[in-house]
Formats: sequence, structure tokens, C-alpha cells
Amino acid sequence: MYWNSELETIDRKSLQELQLARLNRALEAASRTSYYKKFFEDAGVDVSKVKTLEHLQDLPFTVKNDLRLSYPDGMVAVPKRDIVRMHASSGTTGKSTVIYYTRHDLDEWAGIVARGIVATGTTADDVFQNMMGYGLFTGGLGLHYGAEKVGCFVIPASSGNTLKQIQFFQDFGTTVIHITPSYSLHLVEVIREQGIDPHSLTLKKAYLGAEPYSEATRDRIQDLYGIQAYNSYGLSEMNGPGVAFECIHKNGMHLWEDFYIAEIIDPVTGKQLPDGEEGELVLTHINREAMPVIRYRTRDLTRFIPGPCPCGRTHRRIERIKGRTDDMMILGGVNVFPSQIETVLMNTPEVGNNYQLILERVSNLDKLHIRVELNSSMFHGDLKELDALRKKIGEQLRALITINPRIELLEPGSLPPSMGKAQRVIDNRKI
Ligand code: AMP
Ligand code: ZN
Repeated sequence: MYWNSELETIDRKSLQELQLARLNRALEAASRTSYYKKFFEDAGVDVSKVKTLEHLQDLPFTVKNDLRLSYPDGMVAVPKRDIVRMHASSGTTGKSTVIYYTRHDLDEWAGIVARGIVATGTTADDVFQNMMGYGLFTGGLGLHYGAEKVGCFVIPASSGNTLKQIQFFQDFGTTVIHITPSYSLHLVEVIREQGIDPHSLTLKKAYLGAEPYSEATRDRIQDLYGIQAYNSYGLSEMNGPGVAFECIHKNGMHLWEDFYIAEIIDPVTGKQLPDGEEGELVLTHINREAMPVIRYRTRDLTRFIPGPCPCGRTHRRIERIKGRTDDMMILGGVNVFPSQIETVLMNTPEVGNNYQLILERVSNLDKLHIRVELNSSMFHGDLKELDALRKKIGEQLRALITINPRIELLEPGSLPPSMGKAQRVIDNRKI
């Protein structure tokens, strides 16, 4: 089932023609903005020379800092009266980055979100409880309007207020939730503490996104709730959620290429990589009037999955995000991503649902300290058992990523629960 069968199954040649037409329109709009006008001039590029999709590679990258430098409205391409909404990124450091939308932009955005929702089999018969934060963050309102377009019964619950969320599940018969993976792992514990069997609820599906997580975490969430979980990817610079979404086959996320031109680059050289190789995702928004963003370096690492998807959608799929380039840790010369450690932890049944990675520098060497909660059925304090478990996790980490961290096993509930995006890595290194 498709939301927009014509665009979702468009043949590649027509798709590329559409991309080029939209790219030219976006470049023209960008050149009208005060920020990009100077940006292109400084780089010595003439965007009117972009005649093919390959020419895009001649243009400079936009990075997060460009959005900060253009604050508050240096990248706006339309008269103020045409703007109907803004969002701002969650950035904890520096100035926030602001994103603008016209009526057209919001409508189109809701349309691709609807595509993703429908691709997972959700219909107007579903009750959709949206547990992502509403407000400046795009997670809440982004999925909200897409789900309304599909005709779902939408509960704009936002994040937090865990007991109320559970009450809503029961009172309104929620079938689909949108939630961060880390919050879903906390929520399921609270459901159990309330004496409710999560499998007895009406839930059928979860859309998980907004933060990196491993396949092992998806499996765990599916088992704990007895539901199907689908990966959903997006970032505020590219509207918010809905950029790429899994279909029922759950084999990578279809990236809506009539909205975004995607490139995978080597994060060090900045050069495009051959199809199927892993690198940094770079996106050009070609369907937003208010704020075109050209060749944006997402810092997210992924690759294109080769070959067609059995669902018939022609938009290419990206693999689960491995991590962000800035989250990579170098431990004893080995590159390690938090998601690799998470895979080991979440595949260990004795391990609970929450963990933290603490980085320290001892005598000029990076040291990793893993604090992980135990599963409540496991926590009876038998020291021998705990020692054996610590050893088992240590061996698996060594086998997989040749690191030897300090592992601290904690009582369930000792780490701060996540209500939105989890902060997994705490960097105490003084560099
Ligand atoms: P924000 O700009 O606050 O919307 O955050 C966007 C960032 O969240 C992305 O660049 C990713 O790093 C991360 N993110 C969003 N969705 C996912 C996902 N499904 N898997 C991994 N990371 C994600
Ligand atoms: Zn598919």
C-alpha cells in the first residue's frame, strides 16, 4: 500500500529529471538568501552552471556552523509573510539553528511522513500515540501532521509523564507509538512495575528514531512489547523526521529522493564514495521554499543498500545509522562507536535496559568505563554470578571491537531514565 504511488514508485530516470529540476529551483532560491549568496561567491562557484546532478559535487558543503552563522534568518529565501512556522534544533552548545517552513513546505513534509506511516501498514483505523517532544523539536509536530493526513486517531501525548502515557494506552487502545528507543526501554519497565503485562496491551507497532540505536535494541524492544518496530530517520535541517522510513520489509529506510539528493562521502576527504560503501550522509533539500539547504553534512554514518526493495518503492534505502562522526571514540587506536557496544549489551539477556559510557583520560590514554543496569530478574547480588557476567561481557567486547573497558554492573533503576534523546556518552576527558 502506498500513500502516493506515483511518486513512491517513480522510475529512476524520471526521478532524476525531477531531482535536477528541483535542484535548480533550490539553488536559485539559495542564491537569493544573504548567507548563500556570499557563501557561493566566497567559494567562487556559479550555481547557474549546475546543469546535471553530477555538477552538484562542484558546490561547497554546508555544515552545522553555517546554520549558526546565518542565525536568525540568513538562509531564508521567501518574504517573511510566507513563513508559517519555525523549529529549532536541540543543540546544547552555541546558538541554536532555526529552520523555517512555508505552508507548502509543511504540507509537503506531512506528505512524506504519511508515506512512511503508510509504508508500515498503518491506516486510518490506527490509534497513534506520539510520545516525542512537541515544541521547537521537530519530532512531535513532524509525525503529528503526517499521522493526521493518514487519518489516524492522533494522541499528541509528547514525551514524559510516563504513568499518563500508560493510562492512555489502556483508555484509548493505542496501536502505534512514536518514541525514542531509549524512552521506550524505560517505559516498558514502568509498565511492568504497574503490574501490567506489556504484551496484553493493544500496541502493534512502534516508530523508533531521533537517536542512534542498534539492531539488538530493536529486537529487544520488539520482544519486550510484543510489537513490530520500524526505524525512522530525520534531522531538523532537512525538516525533521520523515526523511527516511522503513517499510514493512524492515531492510533499511527508504530515503525520499524527490525531496532530498543524497550523497555518501568519505568524511575525511569529502569525496563521494562508490554506491554501497559506508560513509557520511550528505543531503540537499530540494523541496523546501522557505529555506533551501545545499549539500548538508549530516555527520551520520550509513550506506546505500544495493538492489530493489520487494515493496516496489524505487527510492533507495539507507542502512541503520551506525553513529555520528563526532560520536566515534578512539580507544587504544581502535575506532569504536557506541552502537557497537550497545549491540553487545543488548544481546546479553542478563543486562537491563539502561547504560552509560564514560570516557576518561588516564596517563594520556583514553579509558572507557561502562555503567550498565542489570535485568531485575538477575539482580540478587550473588557476587560470583556478577563476576562471571562481567567477564562474559568483557570477552564479547574484546572479541568484537578489541577493547577492554571497565564494566560496572548496577542495580536496575540506578541510571537516570531517558524521556527523549538519551545521553549515552559522558566525556570526562580534558583535551
Ligand atoms: P535533530 O536535528 O535534533 O532532529 O537530530 C537529528 C539527528 O538525530 C540526526 O542527525 C541523527 O544523528 C539522529 N537520528 C535521528 N533519527 C535517527 C535514527 N533513526 N537512527 C539514528 N540516529 C538518528
Ligand atoms: Zn520497501
